[in-house]
Amino acid sequence: MPRVLLLAATTGYQTRVFADAARKLGFDLVLATDRCHVLEDPWGDRAIPVRFEEPEGSLDTLVAAGPFDAVLAVADRPTVAAALAAEALGIPHNSPAAVVACRDKYLARKCFQAAGLPVPEFFRVPVNADPEKAAARAPYPCVLKPLGLSASRGVIRANDPSEFTAAFDRIGAILQTTDVLILQEEQNRYIQVESFIEGREFALEGLLTAGKLQVLAIFDKPDPLDGPFFEESIYVTQSRAGGEIERKLVDAVEKAVRALGLTRGPIHAELRFNPLGAWVLEVAARPIGGLCARVLRFDGGTTLEELILRHAVGEDVSRARLCDPAAGVMMIPIPEGGIYQGVEGIAEAAAVMHIEDVIITAKEGQKILPLPEGASYLGFIFARGETPGQVERALRQAHACLEFDIATALPLVR
Ligand code: ADP
Repeated sequence: MPRVLLLAATTGYQTRVFADAARKLGFDLVLATDRCHVLEDPWGDRAIPVRFEEPEGSLDTLVAAGPFDAVLAVADRPTVAAALAAEALGIPHNSPAAVVACRDKYLARKCFQAAGLPVPEFFRVPVNADPEKAAARAPYPCVLKPLGLSASRGVIRANDPSEFTAAFDRIGAILQTTDVLILQEEQNRYIQVESFIEGREFALEGLLTAGKLQVLAIFDKPDPLDGPFFEESIYVTQSRAGGEIERKLVDAVEKAVRALGLTRGPIHAELRFNPLGAWVLEVAARPIGGLCARVLRFDGGTTLEELILRHAVGEDVSRARLCDPAAGVMMIPIPEGGIYQGVEGIAEAAAVMHIEDVIITAKEGQKILPLPEGASYLGFIFARGETPGQVERALRQAHACLEFDIATALPLVR
């Protein structure tokens, strides 16, 4: 029975899907996580405790739990610990240096630049630097972003120096919040400034085998992402970009993967395309996050997680093809901050033709924060159909059926 070590920062949805997939395939999945303080433990006592901020300290425990046939990571944060563990266990995997570069937007840009890939003008500034001086050096329009956060958290466009300083202060405040400080990550002490890349945005899901890219899906992001914040909403595959653009997207991701030194396992890349070509925004050494992976279904109903597990233990999955002509997901944006009270219209949304599922992940009474401070969604809508246009329309129509009740969070009066 193949044994796979899965490193995950939470016991979230995707971890459970990996566990289900492993059960179905007859694999032994061993979980390592830093969620020691969380009581819910679907694996009984079997999860290995890891400190992702100091992965070297956990290596002996991980090695002692071996042997393993493969090591996988769910979400960005555990990727470095996974690469170190694989190295210590002697298992083929991405090198620690490659995944460190993926997780640091400055290092990644440096790698792309050194390899001759198109990059925006960019520089990084310590978060305690003088914002006015940085604003004077910035190209406009530009994007300011923390180096190590994800899901567009803290990513803000600035069109002039006054917007720049306001954005800089706002990101500085995000980097001072407890949930960021607790991560103790060096890259969270900087803000990166990049010239704004115009264009349509795409995402690419792939698998690497000995450095070779197998494209699993190219997603169109049909909503314009022009700022000031960059909220993900709709992802639709197959892409409608057409053969020539798609080839350029794939070519750019192949070059980016080589520049970073990634060689093995799942990748998720984000790109922009404009008349100057394909611009890789980032490549993550992990699959598309959380619930969104559900949108991808391969021959025979195989899930992305099953495919990744089979690939990880050396099976040839190169013939895997998406089984739906078109599929899509909407990450339901948070329209305003406050206390989530509930939603109406789920049944109507679910009844829209081509809608497969409507899942609300916000919990009643939960405090919700929109971008740029927040980094979550109210839920997800899934659709499948014959054409990408049909899927996109269905997602928009279903979303329009939903009416969210969000109460204003009143400040405490002393
Ligand atoms: P994260 O890892 O938080 O998703 P990214 O660097 O991928 O951060 O940025 C999030 C989003 O912000 C991108 O998907 C894109 O829409 C936008 N963005 C980031 N950098 C740029 C840029 N230089 N030009 C234009 N848009 C950008």
